[in-house]
Amino acid sequence: MSSPDRHPAVPDDQPAAATPLEAGDATALSSRRRRTHEHILAALSEHGALSRADLSRLTGLSRSAVGHAVGFLADAGHLTEDIPAGTGRTRGRRPTVVTLQRRPGVVLGIDFGHSHITAATATTSGTLLAEATTALDVDSRPQQALDAVTDLAAQALAQSGHTADQIKGIAAGIPGPLDIRTHVVRAPTILRDWIGLNPAQELSRRFGHPVAVANDADMGARGEHTFGAARGLEDFFYIKASHGIGAGLVLAGRTYRGSTGIAGEIGHTRLEGATNLCRCGNRGCLETVVSITEVRRELAHVLPAEPSTAAAAPPPPLADLATQPAAARVITDAGRTLGLVLADLVNCLNPAAIIIGGELSAAGAPLAEGVRDSINRYAQPASANAVTVTVSTLQRRSELLGAVATAIQHSAVG
Ligand SMILES: [Zn+2]
Repeated sequence: MSSPDRHPAVPDDQPAAATPLEAGDATALSSRRRRTHEHILAALSEHGALSRADLSRLTGLSRSAVGHAVGFLADAGHLTEDIPAGTGRTRGRRPTVVTLQRRPGVVLGIDFGHSHITAATATTSGTLLAEATTALDVDSRPQQALDAVTDLAAQALAQSGHTADQIKGIAAGIPGPLDIRTHVVRAPTILRDWIGLNPAQELSRRFGHPVAVANDADMGARGEHTFGAARGLEDFFYIKASHGIGAGLVLAGRTYRGSTGIAGEIGHTRLEGATNLCRCGNRGCLETVVSITEVRRELAHVLPAEPSTAAAAPPPPLADLATQPAAARVITDAGRTLGLVLADLVNCLNPAAIIIGGELSAAGAPLAEGVRDSINRYAQPASANAVTVTVSTLQRRSELLGAVATAIQHSAVG
């Protein structure tokens, strides 16, 4: 018999804020039943209308567990169960489909990068409506960054013609490690100015609304799983390659966070022969060689700017540079170096896909080709053949869309 603790069909978002289910109508429920309800709501949020049999198959829950949960959630107004029109059956037990009872309104998705913040409004079906963004040194100015979010949210709400009381769910991705036991930023060497902060609490206080928070690469993985290249996959890596390098690992349908939430910090894997000092205090970490900053520095070396445009001009788009042979070589080399680290992970975990996002992903095919080269060379052939390597097609919105998907899940249970 299936255990109620089996994984859901979508990566769970490990919400850091109390969900409405936890805080409200389900206070008397056991944590196991609450998880069952969350798995069912997540599957409906991901797949739309489903039969009880589909729910059982997708969540791994027993038919009776699904039946009890559907009855409870329908009574509580979270979902409806109907006979679809035109089924034509008049005798015997008629098939029904279960759908989420969505409430009108908007959700807010928030993406904190190392040097920018974006807030977006979206429908509860996941259509982006409006976005507001600002450049800010997020790493070393946490309070300023947290304060800026409410202004950005107000701008996005105004653009899409909504008011704060129409917000049904809020979620945010944070560019650093969150301790899943305490929801506090805890790694002493990464994002050190955020240490001791509880971003979910800080944001919930500012918004007067529960805010779910997760690591940015995990949010990116969720964005790809719900809206991008990882739809339908249960085992994949999302790599956020920007100023740092982080991985969102989805294994057997669940986001893998490790024992304390720090899993996926591949940017601090030591590379043989590399000696540059990393922000973590070690030398030779992957992100001292492969990051948007390093790749741009190398590109400036092979493609010197015209003297007249060198001062204060914004850097040319990476996608444009990547069409030039010398630049494509630099980018493919960066991909090969990233691929060295990923090949070891491919050997360990046998994923179906690697999706590269973040600012570096704008470099496109030459980057993915470099990663592919190293995986072909260094991973075992059976694992190398099983994995596809692509750059994200979500136009650097994987994290933002992951936050939207998480916020939708929260709006569904609220
Ligand atoms: Zn490091």
